[in-house]
Amino acid sequence: MKPILPGATLGVMGGGQLGRMFVHAAQRLGYFTAVLDPDPHSPAGSVSHHHVRTDYTDPQGLARLAELSAAITTEFENVPAPALAQLALSRPVAPGAACVAIAQDRIEEKAHFHACADRSGVDCAPHAVIRNPAELLAVADDLLPGILKTARLGYDGKGQVRIKTRSELAAAWEAVRQVPCVLEKMLPLVAECSVLVARGHNGQVVSYPPQRNVHVDGILAVTHAYAACLPAELAERAEQATRAIAEQIGYVGLLCVEFFVVQGQQGLELVVNEMAPRPHNSGHHTIDAFDHSQFDLQVHAMAGLPLPTPRQHSPALMLNLLGDIWFDAQGRERSPDWAQLLAIPGIHLHLYGKTEARHGRKMGHLTITGPELAAVQASARRCADLLGLPGLS
Ligand code: ATP
Ligand code: MG
Repeated sequence: MKPILPGATLGVMGGGQLGRMFVHAAQRLGYFTAVLDPDPHSPAGSVSHHHVRTDYTDPQGLARLAELSAAITTEFENVPAPALAQLALSRPVAPGAACVAIAQDRIEEKAHFHACADRSGVDCAPHAVIRNPAELLAVADDLLPGILKTARLGYDGKGQVRIKTRSELAAAWEAVRQVPCVLEKMLPLVAECSVLVARGHNGQVVSYPPQRNVHVDGILAVTHAYAACLPAELAERAEQATRAIAEQIGYVGLLCVEFFVVQGQQGLELVVNEMAPRPHNSGHHTIDAFDHSQFDLQVHAMAGLPLPTPRQHSPALMLNLLGDIWFDAQGRERSPDWAQLLAIPGIHLHLYGKTEARHGRKMGHLTITGPELAAVQASARRCADLLGLPGLS
């Protein structure tokens, strides 16, 4: 592919915070940007040169995005794969519809991970596919207790039910209206981690070192990103597995793969959880702690530019800011004390421009960097105490 150079317009499907940070990265490099999102106040639409305000499947909206853009990417995995396929008729689209379709459906995603297992060295959790009453009945007892996850449209722990017994399983499947699901065995997690890789149209791959993630109530709360955040040998395995998972499907763009860490008989083992065909919340620290962020590499990959190997210049901790901290103990709305927060050393505050705070809604994040880990940890502790943020032990 001939590189698409700065001065051209890059398009993105979706206008959330990931799209906003993509727009920032693209604009810094001298590109114009176009966002397709129906929300007139979307975080990315409000900072983009162009904002196409239509539904993701609207033929006219898609035609307009293609007309404006020299290349197109996506910022959320639930963008309808046929819409990406339509855009790809006239423009380079990265990642492609086929890769996004795999990530959209847990059944296909797990089949892909399993098919890669020989090459990647890592398999997914024991699970069963439930699409009909016969498959429900056929679920093996050793998958209980487990987590029932809808095959499509889950995020931040939504579309998931934790179950202990067969009758709870039947009730949970009923409650999700008997849509296709996977039942995953509940694993005793020692930790969780994720890896970001970027792969170009020419097959070049670069990766970031794995980061360790802490979830609270199924939502990412804290990301640890520094040399000793994971045992080196485990980190190496996760990075190699992620490269294999991207290469096996000819992925182009920025990919994040999430892993569970469990205690095996021969030491710590990795289990692959899921993948996101886009930049990921657990990679936000790359903006402030690396010379090239995950959004920079998304731009490079989609535009056919060379992919620089990202280099970390500071240890980092990332703390998510959910809408919860916009409410006091009585449930009254308030504004967090940004002035006091910004007096803490090493703070990088990112707010996504969302006008309405809701419990569990991702409103922004903090990345804390510093010359050494102890200083970063001390500042992060102060941030967490000041704002009442969970997950930092
Ligand atoms: P995301 O916001 O990452 O898209 P999601 O809603 O797609 O999340 P998962 O990543 O499948 O959901 O699960 C969310 C969290 O729930 C995991 O990060 C992990 O903490 C916990 N979890 C999920 N599956 C299991 C499992 N099989 N065993 C133990 N814990 C699990
Ligand atoms: Mg997840």
